Amino acid sequence: MPIDATLPYDPDNIFARILRDEIPSKRVYEDDFAIAFHDINPQAPQHILVIPRGAYVSWDDFSARGSDAEIAGFVRAVGAVARQAGMVEPGYRLLANVGVDGGQEVPHLHVHVFAGRRLGAMLP
Ligand code: 5GP
Repeated sequence: MPIDATLPYDPDNIFARILRDEIPSKRVYEDDFAIAFHDINPQAPQHILVIPRGAYVSWDDFSARGSDAEIAGFVRAVGAVARQAGMVEPGYRLLANVGVDGGQEVPHLHVHVFAGRRLGAMLP
């Protein structure tokens, strides 16, 4: 069920618990600003989620409240994840769902990174 991304941050959401290692995940990357792990229900041969270490509900929340250092660090982390996974050639796709109409289900900002096959046209 998609969430209302204007709600306050819930420190016990599933990705917060993955960050604290309370729930297992297949972690593929971590640095001071972000961690990345395999999506539990992959929609492409490679499907990685990148999340900031900071407590932000959504892209909207992060872009409004995140520090310049956190935003720069997170953007660099997303790029590093794709490079490390060998996605740059032949290519990959980034996606961030925001709020109910965006289809966001987990209330901690995450960017989906898809690769491994020719992805279809992006339709709403
Ligand atoms: P959203 O719809 O919020 O953009 O995407 C949430 C994503 O989180 C979905 O692709 C879903 O498969 C993934 N997900 C949900 N619960 C877990 C979990 O416990 N572990 C992992 N690795 N992924 C999860």
